[in-house]
Amino acid sequence: ARFDELGLIPELLKRVTELEYSAPTQIQSQSIPLVLKGSDLLAGANTGSGKTAAFALPILQHLHTQTKAAAKGNFVRALVIVPTRELAQQVATSFKSYAQCLTPRVKIEAVFGGVSANTQMLALRGGADVLVATPGRLLDLLSSNAIKLSQVTHLVLDEADRMLSLGFTDELGEILALLPKRKQTLLFSATFPEEVKELTDALLSSPVEIQL
Ligand code: AMP
Repeated sequence: ARFDELGLIPELLKRVTELEYSAPTQIQSQSIPLVLKGSDLLAGANTGSGKTAAFALPILQHLHTQTKAAAKGNFVRALVIVPTRELAQQVATSFKSYAQCLTPRVKIEAVFGGVSANTQMLALRGGADVLVATPGRLLDLLSSNAIKLSQVTHLVLDEADRMLSLGFTDELGEILALLPKRKQTLLFSATFPEEVKELTDALLSSPVEIQL
């Protein structure tokens, strides 16, 4: 497939060309049209597969198209939950890069532990279009009312198996309980042990499954 066959808007295609991505990876050609359609997605994918663009590009397109709902208050529009600080930084950097040609600007923030929460709280004043977060720090910020998840329209769980094996099951449950029922959910995992299956059953509504 080619990037210009996936349904992406010119502003995003321009970035993909600037980044010299010559063709979509397998996960990108499969997931981008499905996510643009609004489907829930269950995808088996490893790092290096191009999975970040597979969810970031179509989510950015949804957020850009739904300008009425631009970030305000302390609300988050798209929430991406990841297991580690490194991945949070990496995913936020990718989102920012893919969003570079979009106007009005899409506000993308990352929160993770190991650094002061104050700077992150300040950055979240006025909300965020995209928040990339690790579970522990996200819960801290929620308990101090720094952000609200009641208007989230898009949820991504990235590296879900790693999140559960690192012991974030309870934290994840607490976070997911704060999200609206109606939203688009995308779950990426390298492996599908029983506890990931339980999570997907609870979270996804008739998801399309992609297994590479
Ligand atoms: P990821 O699996 O999302 O961590 O991406 C792995 C690397 O592949 C990142 O450095 C991306 O910038 C790069 N990448 C993603 N999609 C493409 C593509 N279609 N063509 C070339 N490189 C890509």
